[in-house]
Amino acid sequence: MTKMTLTLLASAAIIGTGLSTPAAARAVAAPVPTAAEEAAVLDLAMKEIAIRSVRGEANRTPEVAALVRDRLIAAGWAPGDVVITRRGETATLVATWAGTDRALKPLVLSGHMDVVEAKRADWQRDPFGPVVDNGVLFGRGATDMKFDGALLVSAVIDLRAHGYHPRRGIVIAFSGDEETVMATSDALAHELKNADLVINADGGGGTFADGTDTPLYWLWDGNEKAYADYQLEVTNPGGHSSEPRPDNAIVQLAQALVKVGAYQFPAEQNELTKPWFERAAAFEADPAKAAAMRAFAANPHDAAAAAIVRADPDLVGRAGTTCVATLLSGGHAENALPQRARANINCRIFPGHSREAIMAELKTVIASDVVKITDVTDGSITPPVTPLRADYVVAAEKAIRAAWGKDIAVIPNQASGGSDSMFYRALGVPAYNASPVFTRRDERFSHGLNERVRLVNIKPALTFYFNLIPDLTK
Ligand SMILES: [Zn+2]
Repeated sequence: MTKMTLTLLASAAIIGTGLSTPAAARAVAAPVPTAAEEAAVLDLAMKEIAIRSVRGEANRTPEVAALVRDRLIAAGWAPGDVVITRRGETATLVATWAGTDRALKPLVLSGHMDVVEAKRADWQRDPFGPVVDNGVLFGRGATDMKFDGALLVSAVIDLRAHGYHPRRGIVIAFSGDEETVMATSDALAHELKNADLVINADGGGGTFADGTDTPLYWLWDGNEKAYADYQLEVTNPGGHSSEPRPDNAIVQLAQALVKVGAYQFPAEQNELTKPWFERAAAFEADPAKAAAMRAFAANPHDAAAAAIVRADPDLVGRAGTTCVATLLSGGHAENALPQRARANINCRIFPGHSREAIMAELKTVIASDVVKITDVTDGSITPPVTPLRADYVVAAEKAIRAAWGKDIAVIPNQASGGSDSMFYRALGVPAYNASPVFTRRDERFSHGLNERVRLVNIKPALTFYFNLIPDLTK
């Protein structure tokens, strides 16, 4: 999952700037999490972290699935309603809680059980030996996303225990290779393509004010950019390096790469990125950058504003399609003319464009007969733009404010990385990434070392789901 980073303005006012009406932000009666329910979240998260669910020969993802299944069955799910499907070395879990109105399409609560590889020697502690230290849980998956998964499962179990009866069915759907090849993600989306809506806990999330446990703002992802790899290749008969030819494969490839490096795809915005720039500007410490963000939101064709936005790695991904050179190889001997030179161009495509269209644009930019361009993208798809669902937007804003008992700035976002949600969106199912977990800016270690999460999140995150899930299924 991708979490955004912003330079925070520590004194920024915490203001409600949501899409919903202020009245919708008011909390309604939802269960208050008990101490035992909070403890169950931590227990499940720690047990999951202890299971090394990493791609490879010793992949233990099916054991994570079994752990979750056992919890659900103990809480009243019929064994036949919790289906673990082995898929190669990994597995998926689909748990169904039928609604009282069978005609309604289900709400899918999505997540993944696998984690990114972590090496004991690189970490301060064993990444698969979860530890709580001073209110912070450490371990691989603490943020991406076993803690989030434990919250989701526990919240649904608790709602059932509190006597809630959903009108719309609720399906927990956990994939088993989201961090690598996403084959199970694709399979699950096809299996559940009849869903009304997908809430994915693997993305979005909140930010605490620096050094505190005070929420500053909360993001949810309504879409994500598509991933693409294009190979550029120049081949040549080659020859002896003492007899150079006018055409040289390495030089020709280099000329193409310089053009790609200098090219900027058109600036764009949509119904997610426009409000993101407007609202995130309030938390930006640099006044010039904040002004550029607001100006870009007002007019993406404002050249001065676009130049500042595009020069900033935190912002450029939200301003349009980006393509960069990421791999380079060529030649076969010090004293031979190169017979082959190759480069990889990695693109993050703004929603609404096909991979074919972006490749055609690159071809025009390179404008060379000798540079062959091939789409070598592995396993990615280009989802259509997901429309914003007003019922989701209202419910999510209400839930996050109920969680913390106060107004919190809510910022819709378009992620630059990918998640399971893209497979649902590709099939026309709206999917929103909406983790209720808050992190401090200097404690974001998803995919990295010494991953951690603050346990102060447990009670508000359960409260978030106690509000959100009934609002979307009652
Ligand atoms: Zn993830």
